[in-house]
Amino acid sequence: MVEYIGIEGIQRIVGRLGPAPFIEGLAAEIETDYRRWGEFDKSARHAIHSPGGVIELMPTSDGEMYSFKYVNGHPKNTALGLLTVTAFGVLADVETGYPLLLSELTVTTALRTAAMSALAARWMARPDSRVMALIGNGAQSEFQAIAFHHMLGIREFRLYDVDGHATEKLARNLHALGERDLQVKPCRSAAEAVEGADIVTTVTADKCNAIILTPEMIAPGMHLNAVGGDCPGKTELHADILRRVDARVIVEYEPQSRIEGEIQQLPADFSVTEFTQVLSGVATGRASPAEVTIFDSVGFALEDYSALRYLYKLQRQQNQPRKIDLIPHLDNPKNLFGLLGANTTRLPATPSSGRPLRSLAVDLTSI
Ligand code: NAD
Repeated sequence: MVEYIGIEGIQRIVGRLGPAPFIEGLAAEIETDYRRWGEFDKSARHAIHSPGGVIELMPTSDGEMYSFKYVNGHPKNTALGLLTVTAFGVLADVETGYPLLLSELTVTTALRTAAMSALAARWMARPDSRVMALIGNGAQSEFQAIAFHHMLGIREFRLYDVDGHATEKLARNLHALGERDLQVKPCRSAAEAVEGADIVTTVTADKCNAIILTPEMIAPGMHLNAVGGDCPGKTELHADILRRVDARVIVEYEPQSRIEGEIQQLPADFSVTEFTQVLSGVATGRASPAEVTIFDSVGFALEDYSALRYLYKLQRQQNQPRKIDLIPHLDNPKNLFGLLGANTTRLPATPSSGRPLRSLAVDLTSI
């Protein structure tokens, strides 16, 4: 039996801890895994593009456990009443190849992306950062706000979205958290939201080279958390922001970010730092209070591995794990066909091929 976490399961697990402690705990797991970077089998994710979106597979393994995530990105989906991003994934035991956990990852992706954004910002943003502009107020946005409020001490959020209803929804959800030290200010433009902000998070969805931030909006000392640009032809920053002499660009896994990140706009020899180098002390996240730091986030498989392992652990700690019969259990593992025994008698005598099933079996054994 394979353990299972569906929507009800993730509501239960996150509900028991609370979203902020869940994100904080997940950030710690992600940090631990980035610190053992060399142990992971890494590759840029496999993407199949269509005019309206992308479907991706994200595998990785540390030799003990293996994970993959299926994830899509279809920015026009919300007009149809559907999510832009949906996901699910599997954690498996490398020794046997058996899946251990099948889990929803739509909500979990929002939690892990927020955890990763805040974790990167801990190493890159000025420690006195208190104001954040949050541009793009869709499905991911509350998770980003909660992570930055709890993990970085952000007190004021300046919200902007081309869709005013999305901003109203985000403001309403943030007010409902009932945090007295959290202020929310809806803005009429991205420029208004960014002015005076210490951190700017862009988490918009549009399958184009959008220019959400232009060079004149950026002040010395800002930290940019660029989340929404995450596949070829889908970016959010004007390339001159990345080219600033005082800018430091940090990515998750360079080969994937060269294809999908903001840096796809720049030549292949443009210098970037991988986040793991910051954790290991090989590089610094910020060299001075005046530097502009940019986390060019695209989402890497290791973060989903951390999330799946964290969920697997939490579900076992919290209650009896739910299980589904995804994999057969057999007395004789060589007799897989025996599993169908009871049912084969109920199959039509003549399958669609026109040949009776029993004679097909005889034919096969005689080969
Ligand atoms: P969503 O569709 O729910 O929300 C996106 C919001 O962006 C919408 O409200 C839309 O109106 C707004 N928007 C679009 N263009 C805009 C513009 N020019 N200015 C201001 N607002 C604009 O999508 P979501 O699930 O919140 O995801 C947002 C983005 O984050 C997507 O592009 C997704 O692919 C990306 N994402 C990245 C990661 C990562 O790890 N980097 C993880 C998850 C999602």
